[in-house]
Amino acid sequence: MGASASMVAVPAAEACGEAGVLEAVRGIVRSQLAPIVNDIDQNGLYPRDVLRALGAAGAYRTHLPLKPAPAAANLTTAIEASAIASQSCLSTGFLMWCQSTLAWYLANSENDAVRSRYLSRVADGSQLGGTGLSNPMKTFFGIEQLKLKGKRVPGGYAVRGALPWVSNLGPDHVFGTVFEVEGEPSRRVMFIADCATDGVSIQACPGFVALDGTATYSVQFRDAFVPDAKVLSDPVDGYLKKIRAGFVLLQTGMGLGVIRDCIDLMRRVQPSLGHINKFLDDQPEDLAETLAAMEAEITALALTPFDPSPQYWRRVVTLRLLVGETAVRAAHAAMLHSGARGYVMASRVQRRLREAYFVAIVTPATKQLKKMLAEMNC
Ligand SMILES: Cc1cc2nc3c(=O)[nH]c(=O)nc-3n(C[C@H](O)[C@H](O)[C@H](O)COP(=O)(O)OP(=O)(O)OC[C@H]3O[C@@H](n4cnc5c(N)ncnc54)[C@H](O)[C@@H]3O)c2cc1C
Repeated sequence: MGASASMVAVPAAEACGEAGVLEAVRGIVRSQLAPIVNDIDQNGLYPRDVLRALGAAGAYRTHLPLKPAPAAANLTTAIEASAIASQSCLSTGFLMWCQSTLAWYLANSENDAVRSRYLSRVADGSQLGGTGLSNPMKTFFGIEQLKLKGKRVPGGYAVRGALPWVSNLGPDHVFGTVFEVEGEPSRRVMFIADCATDGVSIQACPGFVALDGTATYSVQFRDAFVPDAKVLSDPVDGYLKKIRAGFVLLQTGMGLGVIRDCIDLMRRVQPSLGHINKFLDDQPEDLAETLAAMEAEITALALTPFDPSPQYWRRVVTLRLLVGETAVRAAHAAMLHSGARGYVMASRVQRRLREAYFVAIVTPATKQLKKMLAEMNC
């Protein structure tokens, strides 16, 4: 790939003012997202306009590296933006992660052609899309085989295979994923897949327990042509090490949002049920303490997403595991504290319980994180 990494014009985060971005995100969540949360949850409404508004407000660009070498980036605001949305609706918080992570892939690519084609439009939300990295992430940690194969053809690759779940998709959406080169199984290439390309088809997934509004599709590739201009990294190895901490850390916003809301839901029933709820194992104060510790660790780790040390990576993986486990624990506690009023369909508590499990099963899932930690030697 062309190795010169001149920057594509993305409005600098500083220019937008990161506090201003968060204020705008809060406003959009209040005025545009809150009224449709139940529609998203119960009817699978995809919040396209909300996603575009969040992009226009700068939510998908504050984390992007402003200079390629030595690369530096701060993920704090992007994580907080997704936490604010997730506090109201996990589907939207997850969709923000999809979009921000796609921008992260592009900003860290050394292929000028793919950056100039997509980066600024993904960063401002005018081009929507996501990431199909679950299967590759599981492959790289010895859990699955790569599902996509690419054959070298003039000017690019012909790709075939299928991915079972990719979110934030539509007929005009794009996403980053990985194929294995035919005849060279150890060579993996990461690229931008375009749902509008001949040979690429998307099919809606069967209904989920929650997160149905996330435009999640299975994607089939039938000798779809991927030009060199859409390659993010060939081969993927060094690039993957560069992007992996950002990929994982950006997910923590989803957990923070769910946990904050569950603590709030527990506190709301304290005046009427506190006399009996005090016998439950998990109290809102306990969860608030764990939350504060996680927030401090996120703030520290989000400043250096390119730290190559094994010790840093271990902290990232440990944190991500705790975020998933605490999200489930907080939603479980919110249900026990709320009792029957949390168990009716109209209750936000039952939605939080269904949503929280997603934080723990989306790749890297709890079981994968535990495997990764068990195999680390630092
Ligand atoms: C709502 C939703 C949105 C998602 N969005 C994305 C996304 O945007 N990008 C992305 O890369 N991944 C996405 N995923 C996948 C997700 O990240 C995980 O990979 C998935 O939840 C399973 O991970 P796991 O490690 O628990 O694997 P496991 O569930 O233990 O095993 C996964 C493997 O089992 C098989 N399998 C499991 N369930 C089924 C089934 N119902 N039908 C057929 N085969 C099955 C498949 O071979 C699959 O690869 C999404 C999943 C869900 C539920």
